[in-house]
Amino acid sequence: MKEAIQAVRGMPDLLPEDTARWQQVESVLRECVGSFGYSEVRLPLLEKTPLFNRAIGEVTDVVEKEMYTFEDRSGESLSLRPEGTAGCVRCCLQHGLLHNQEQRLWYTGPMFRHERPQQGRYRQFHQLGVEVFGLNGPDIDAEIIALSQLIWQRLKITDSLQLQLNSLGSAQERAAYRQSLVEFLSAHQEFLDEDSRRRLNTNPLRILDSKDPKVGELLQEAPLLSDHFGSETRRHFEGLQDLLTGLGIAFTLNPRLVRGLDYYNLTVFEWVTHDLGAQGTVCGGGRYDGLVEQLGGESVPAVGFGLGLERLILLLDKLGCFTPYVQADIYVIGSGAGVELHQAAAAAKLRELLPGAKILNHCGGGSFKRQFKRADKCGATFAVILGDNEIAHNSVTIKNLREGGDEQLELPLPEAAKVMGRTLGLSGLAF
Ligand code: ATP
Ligand code: MG
Repeated sequence: MKEAIQAVRGMPDLLPEDTARWQQVESVLRECVGSFGYSEVRLPLLEKTPLFNRAIGEVTDVVEKEMYTFEDRSGESLSLRPEGTAGCVRCCLQHGLLHNQEQRLWYTGPMFRHERPQQGRYRQFHQLGVEVFGLNGPDIDAEIIALSQLIWQRLKITDSLQLQLNSLGSAQERAAYRQSLVEFLSAHQEFLDEDSRRRLNTNPLRILDSKDPKVGELLQEAPLLSDHFGSETRRHFEGLQDLLTGLGIAFTLNPRLVRGLDYYNLTVFEWVTHDLGAQGTVCGGGRYDGLVEQLGGESVPAVGFGLGLERLILLLDKLGCFTPYVQADIYVIGSGAGVELHQAAAAAKLRELLPGAKILNHCGGGSFKRQFKRADKCGATFAVILGDNEIAHNSVTIKNLREGGDEQLELPLPEAAKVMGRTLGLSGLAF
């Protein structure tokens, strides 16, 4: 026998039980972005490599170590997208969507990063991305935060997520801060781990994000970026805090929140949970006013967030938010000569009458006992039974497999559909 080929490490399959959950979550996400009047864009998974180098920054972890980059057959360097913002900006520029226009956009799909796989961290993972272009006030920052909060509300997990907030100021303010931070950290190099020492010369602000406890202690004493804020940054940051407070959205200020990608300025935020261990950031975002220009457009203010679907679904699972997986709500079984056609026709009619129900028609015959077993195994609430009597009476027999005991009910099919529809709690019945 040949050895079976396994999936690429860190690129998990989603099996039927998983996709059922994903679909539930995805439909809530769609509803929420729809509620805010955002429009979907669908973007390619592959982009030209220089797009990411220019957008994300050459000295970030993502570009230095995590991208899947290869030459295609014509020798051009392409990369699987590690995030969605760069591609979204590229798309907007290419199609002139940013010319004197505001855009409120969203997308979802897989992203690819060559990281060490562990719970909540994969090499192929999925994000919901939200990006807004052409608006520069704190009101739109508050809006996308409110949008993310609506998602937690509709999923009933608001209590498990805390909002952390910071401002990264302007490029000039960061440059001034960078100098004072480097001076401070250089004077205390003995407390820095290897990673932080390397970053001292390449990307010192990222040291603020260090998980090393010794570095953490040292940073307590470090100068603060906010000491370098000018009046415009202050106004924006305070304006945002006032709006959030007014909207009843609680937040914690975290002066060490810097985020992984280079392109952010002013507002940055993360929604963090304590229920997922080290991979606790479910959603992160902020303002990136310089990016559009950096990618060859006019100067257009922009703000957005990325929400990790795997982490969100892990959290929902931990909190016990998912109902048990059922393959079908109604399982149609039958016995007798020529019953196959009656089964298929009854199933078809039920699909018409109960468009929200999952109706599985038993195929392959066999004893009633065996067919009931199948019905039970697939989690169906009802068995719909067709035998010689039912065919003769132009009726069906229904049996509630979950709480009906031995009770069976013979009814004309439309009546049976009504009874089952009520028990299943289906809305949008076709009658
Ligand atoms: P982290 O600090 O956890 O590495 P990040 O700052 O690299 O996250 P972003 O680039 O901001 O993450 O992506 C936004 C969201 O996408 C994250 O908050 C997280 O929920 C999710 N995410 C990022 N990388 C991964 C990954 N490798 N596997 C699963 N989800 C991820
Ligand atoms: Mg990362």
